[in-house]
Amino acid sequence: SVDVSDVHKRYHHNEVLKGVSFHVPANTVTSVLGPSGSGKSTLLRSINRLIPIDSGLIRVGDNIIGYEERGGKYYELSDRDLCRQRQRIGMVFQNFNLFPHKTVLANLVEGPQVVLGRPKRETEEEARELLASVGLAAKADEYPGQLSGGQQQRVAIARALAMKPELILFDEPTSALDPELVGEVLDVMRRLAEDSSTTMIVVTHEIAFARDVSDQVVFMADGVVEASGPAREVLDPERSPRIKSFLMRST
Ligand code: ATP
Ligand code: MG
Repeated sequence: SVDVSDVHKRYHHNEVLKGVSFHVPANTVTSVLGPSGSGKSTLLRSINRLIPIDSGLIRVGDNIIGYEERGGKYYELSDRDLCRQRQRIGMVFQNFNLFPHKTVLANLVEGPQVVLGRPKRETEEEARELLASVGLAAKADEYPGQLSGGQQQRVAIARALAMKPELILFDEPTSALDPELVGEVLDVMRRLAEDSSTTMIVVTHEIAFARDVSDQVVFMADGVVEASGPAREVLDPERSPRIKSFLMRST
């Protein structure tokens, strides 16, 4: 599970997260929606400590992000230990961020082999299975530049899964894609949501996805959680004027 508790983050005089709190049960899908600039990406980047927070607490499973417990006390993690903690959390970005000079297969096995030190044969077998599961078995030996945006994003999802993370964060995974390629990526995410034991937090503008797939919707506005709960309750235009205008703009 994930617990985000009273998280504050400012950039200079700009307070971007103003006390954000919500809970994500294990093996569930949470969609984070909200207007541009409301702090969604900042929140995701805080969860895997790509950026440090100013105050508050983020717990992922048994770990407090950025800290370790020894004898009932909490100590700030060294950079090396922070990297180890971060390996338990996968992230899929808007712009795929694949290694362009590596084949698709090499992209998938890099983390498991280099970071986790797992054997070549085993990681390659798993990688091929993952590629098959996202419909890309035939692309193992191609380079990212030879693939469509939708295919690249499916590779990026498979690559995140190859690390067997306990949590996967998605930051607008479909918003850089041509409209005709959005569906194939959402399909992969939908299947992942259904049959995996992975906890997912998805920042998205895809209201249909949020409605159909997520167990919970967190609506952010101006650095706070304006509403959270089941999609049908949160994505109700009567809930608040901001939610209403968000829904009207997005449909
Ligand atoms: P979008 O839907 O456009 O992706 P968002 O909800 O993800 O928006 P954030 O990217 O989290 O919003 O940004 C929230 C606020 O924080 C914005 O005002 C932004 O300008 C500011 N901000 C984000 N990153 C930085 C940074 N590295 N330095 C300074 N300000 C930043
Ligand atoms: Mg963003």
